[in-house]
Amino acid sequence: MSFSTFGLSEEIIRAVTECGYTVPTPIQSQAIPAVLAGGDLLAGAQTGTGKTAGFTLPILHRLSDKRIKGPFSGRPPIRALILVPTRELAAQVEESVRDYGKYLKLTSMMMIGGVNINRQITRLKSRVDILVATPGRLLDHVQQKTLNLSHVEILVLDEADRMLDMGFIRDIKKILALLPKQRQNLLFSATFSDEIQLLADNLLNKPVMIEVARRNATADKVTHVVHPVDRDRKRDLLAHLIKQHRWSQVLVFTRTKHGANKLSEYLVASGIPSLAIHGNKSQSARTQALMEFKAGRMQVLVATDIAARGIDISELPHVVNYELPHVAEDYVHRIGRTGRAGSEGDAVSLVCVDEYKLLTGIEKLIKRDLPSQIISGFEPDPHIKAEPIVNGRRGGSSVISTRNQPKSRTSAKPTSKRPMGFARPAATHATAARRPGGRGR
Ligand code: AMP
Repeated sequence: MSFSTFGLSEEIIRAVTECGYTVPTPIQSQAIPAVLAGGDLLAGAQTGTGKTAGFTLPILHRLSDKRIKGPFSGRPPIRALILVPTRELAAQVEESVRDYGKYLKLTSMMMIGGVNINRQITRLKSRVDILVATPGRLLDHVQQKTLNLSHVEILVLDEADRMLDMGFIRDIKKILALLPKQRQNLLFSATFSDEIQLLADNLLNKPVMIEVARRNATADKVTHVVHPVDRDRKRDLLAHLIKQHRWSQVLVFTRTKHGANKLSEYLVASGIPSLAIHGNKSQSARTQALMEFKAGRMQVLVATDIAARGIDISELPHVVNYELPHVAEDYVHRIGRTGRAGSEGDAVSLVCVDEYKLLTGIEKLIKRDLPSQIISGFEPDPHIKAEPIVNGRRGGSSVISTRNQPKSRTSAKPTSKRPMGFARPAATHATAARRPGGRGR
């Protein structure tokens, strides 16, 4: 199958060809005809599947197919609204809209918080056909009456599950109430919780339902390994692994912003160029860090789950779970950053005794046991007892609550007193040298 079979305009095909795409991904094969047909869509797909082009290409086609008549009183109307959970994802989606629509006369805009609103207000005075926005800033514009949503023809909720996790449901409801009743709705979600189902039931009218294989079902290209290690030795082990294997581009996940900062500082002090990205950093600092990392100038990017959501770095060879996520599905999102676009990748998890329950949850979700390997010199001490993890911090004394923190992340109590690595029968004992280099030198 090729892109020309969908009946997309010649301009779109040309742009897609220039992006180097020849064969549509499974989500694209199903979503493009469904969206072109004009009906609502409920799609189960996550980042890495090609979902962005799956909705963007047919939207571009539909909007360029029919002109909207002016003149309008007040602000020019938005024709397609794409709501996304994070700033980084907004930047990526809008970039895709521009790439795929470069030969069309349609215009697009990214609308995110953390940057000056006045420039956005000025931009909104001229035509914006496709708006890619995060919900909070969009509502700021609504309040200031600087945005015209009365002609939205197509609405996309991208990564809807993550938007709900981040507590955006009320914002979404407010935005829905501002849109015209007659419109096409596309809902993309990596997971289908009862909440998503409820949202879909309220939002969608007889939707076409598609679901592509989840990354956890197709992750054969990703090599998973768990290294049991004491909690206080994790950072030494990470530095050891990076140096030993000469990993040149590593995305490392921590559970907290504080943890991301501290780890990044430690790596820098150990001679490993590193930057942290998380919700407390300014948008320009986040963009800058991402650029440095993508360009290969920054060896290690330390990120929290939210900050990393939507990061698209093709063929990222190594992902390290410095701390396991509270929500098992985040493991799947995290490793979705590696082994993308048909390439191979490593997903390495440094797991201490506190995280045994989290590991079991992940293994249950992905329906397989993760191979365990103790690194020589970093053997876990069997006498260390598990401690509770509260909002990503050990000891339970400090809870950092932020707007960006998914509400489901409360506490995870360790259930096992058995030390990691000794409890797991599959653990092998190896030196780091037994896992030579991998890729990415
Ligand atoms: P997404 O899931 O939309 O974040 O896309 C993941 C990555 O796949 C992006 O880097 C896209 O540029 C790339 N991509 C999307 N569609 C295709 C395709 N048909 N062929 C090759 N790469 C693609």
